[in-house]
Amino acid sequence: MYNHAMLTPESILKSTFGYDTFKPLQREIINNVTARRDTLVIMPTGGGKSLTYQVPALMFEGLTIVVSPLIALMKDQVEQLHALGVSAVFLNSSLSPAEYQANMDSVKSGQTKLLYVAPETLLTPRLFSLLSGLRVDLFAIDEAHCISEWGHDFRPEYRQLVDVRKRFPSAVCMALTATATPRVRADIVSTLGFTHKNEFLASFNRENLFIEVAAKRDPVAQTLKFLENFKDQSGIIYCFSRKQVDELAATLARYKFSVRPYHAGLEDSERRRNQEAFIRDDAQIIVATIAFGMGINKPNVRFVIHFDLPKSVESYYQEIGRAGRDGLPSHCLLLYSYGDASKLRYFIDQKEEPERSASYQHLEAMTRYAEGSVCRRKPLLSYFGETYSQENCGTCDNCGAEPNAQADITIPAQKFLSCVKRSGERFGAAHIVDILLGSKNEKIEKYKHHELSTYGIGKELTKSQWMHISRQMVERGLVEQEPAYRVLSVTAAGLEMLKSRKQVLGQVNEAQRGERSGARLKSTSSAEELEYDNLLFAQLRNKRKEIADAAGVPPYVIFSDKTLVQMATYFPQTKDGLMNMSGMGKVKYERYGTDFLTVIKEYCKENRVEEKYKAPMREKDDAGRRYAAVGEAYNAGESIESLMARYSVTADTILNHLARFIMAGNPLRSAEDLIALSTLTPDQQQKVFSAFDELGSDMLKPIHEKMNATINYDELKILRLCYLCEKR
Ligand code: ADP
Ligand code: ZN
Repeated sequence: MYNHAMLTPESILKSTFGYDTFKPLQREIINNVTARRDTLVIMPTGGGKSLTYQVPALMFEGLTIVVSPLIALMKDQVEQLHALGVSAVFLNSSLSPAEYQANMDSVKSGQTKLLYVAPETLLTPRLFSLLSGLRVDLFAIDEAHCISEWGHDFRPEYRQLVDVRKRFPSAVCMALTATATPRVRADIVSTLGFTHKNEFLASFNRENLFIEVAAKRDPVAQTLKFLENFKDQSGIIYCFSRKQVDELAATLARYKFSVRPYHAGLEDSERRRNQEAFIRDDAQIIVATIAFGMGINKPNVRFVIHFDLPKSVESYYQEIGRAGRDGLPSHCLLLYSYGDASKLRYFIDQKEEPERSASYQHLEAMTRYAEGSVCRRKPLLSYFGETYSQENCGTCDNCGAEPNAQADITIPAQKFLSCVKRSGERFGAAHIVDILLGSKNEKIEKYKHHELSTYGIGKELTKSQWMHISRQMVERGLVEQEPAYRVLSVTAAGLEMLKSRKQVLGQVNEAQRGERSGARLKSTSSAEELEYDNLLFAQLRNKRKEIADAAGVPPYVIFSDKTLVQMATYFPQTKDGLMNMSGMGKVKYERYGTDFLTVIKEYCKENRVEEKYKAPMREKDDAGRRYAAVGEAYNAGESIESLMARYSVTADTILNHLARFIMAGNPLRSAEDLIALSTLTPDQQQKVFSAFDELGSDMLKPIHEKMNATINYDELKILRLCYLCEKR
């Protein structure tokens, strides 16, 4: 069936998968695997991991075994491969004895290129005897973080894969994961006996996600407003509690949204039904607790809303990562209130040590993120040990925010804080504001607050302006709000501010944040993707749904949204035109091409639309790939200065590119040019190198602390590069 001599990764990419170019690192990984080097792949969700073993699987003569812990994902992958015309089967406990045997037979006959198995299945004697008579060329371990006890999802059966792998000494081994923590990574490498040279770490920046945090005021109204712009689009709304899930789902249903709840309190069968409805585009919105999402491969999730505060940055990143796997622009909105943080703190208080301290730290990092005013990508990526060096990402609320929205609010802040203090730290914001405004009411009389020196000193602002000041005081941690009665008290930081009379920047008037989520999102991806014909798209989607339902598979197995968007942009009316669409492989064209061409032709005739020319894709030298160009130029002998000039960027940016280059598994020529950039004495440099030896080089913060904060991060970055250079 396959003529191996003629198969190149590019030809398989185009003819089987219908794609023109590889995503970052895919090509490098495939090269490494086909050179039969054991390879670790770390890519975020949506990075395109599957393709990195599927392409080699089609190039190798023998069988590829893919180990995956999730039954639902196996089924999904196999269905997608079938739609591409690739012969693949899975073996796990969900199959009937007859299906199981049929799949075994297909493997035995040598027809099957890819076999998906659960680890426990792989450990059975039955499978051993089946595989012992076969040529196995590739052994791919998906969700490889399950091998590590440090991961969030440790599975003991995964440890035993080490022995299984030894039974196939001539097979090359791959481990793939979206978990980037250095500890887990190191654990995988040492458990499987890989070398660091064969580690491929992709950037965890998801460029197509618009990231926004909005102050949570009236969350239901904010959600409804947000949804206005996502008519007929799929999305997930995460809530903290089951009760909240049920309430919100009911509310949205009242507003005629197509919505289903999902949480651990529902019957298994109902949960499965709801998830299935979402996957098959029968329900557009799923309101869920965090229990939802594992094992979901749906690529066209257009938004993720966090109705409540997530408990850690890591889980937040994972949850927003479920949006936009297909690479199309998608929107992530977090509704944040200080009250939510207090609520979580209350839950954490009930826990035992050491879990309690750890949870506090996670929450602390999460609130810092939510309250932050720098580009959202900076703290998110630095959490994964990655430096984001672009000035303005253009796709987060902070980068899009008006730069001069900040005003000097020192005086109102001081008035507010001293009023909280003088009234005895026993009242909520509304009462404090009443005192400041000099209001006359019963409560004021009762507590004799008209006798306070702060009574009536705030008449220059309105009530709503004062309430906004109050929220900002809480958000900055100058004032603390006790959750039960919302009583305010001044924190140590607040007292410090009062004493030092330090300037406070903020807003007097409530900005229209959160409402902005209503605005059509701006996207970094090419305009083509947004200016498609909505009517045609809807018709194509109906056609897709019809075919998918008849075949009993999710619609994305037939075509991704991206493929349909391209059809609704270029109106292709011939075979060649249609084959030029992303995701249109040969087999897919043969199976579904005519159906879709018919829809497009009819539509064009009725509406007098003509086919548009689609230029063949070319390699982009955008920021996503520039690191490779920089790394190669450096290795070819170009100096740092010359690279700075060529790309008009700072030395820091070049260093970041080189760091990515080296972390992506490429060697770098000598460190001489680099060490020349350091201003430290050789003695100091040696100390830093020893610190790297001791603490690893993934994170700079521990090194910074180890050196008692005497060496700045720019220096550390330079030295890390030199260190990595030498080590290789
Ligand atoms: P991961 O497993 O890393 O989350 P997937 O393998 O599911 O990612 O890929 C995510 C999406 O990107 C899929 O819809 C896949 O078809 C698509 N994809 C993968 N590689 C490419 C490519 N080179 N060009 C275009 N789309 C791609
Ligand atoms: Zn940004």
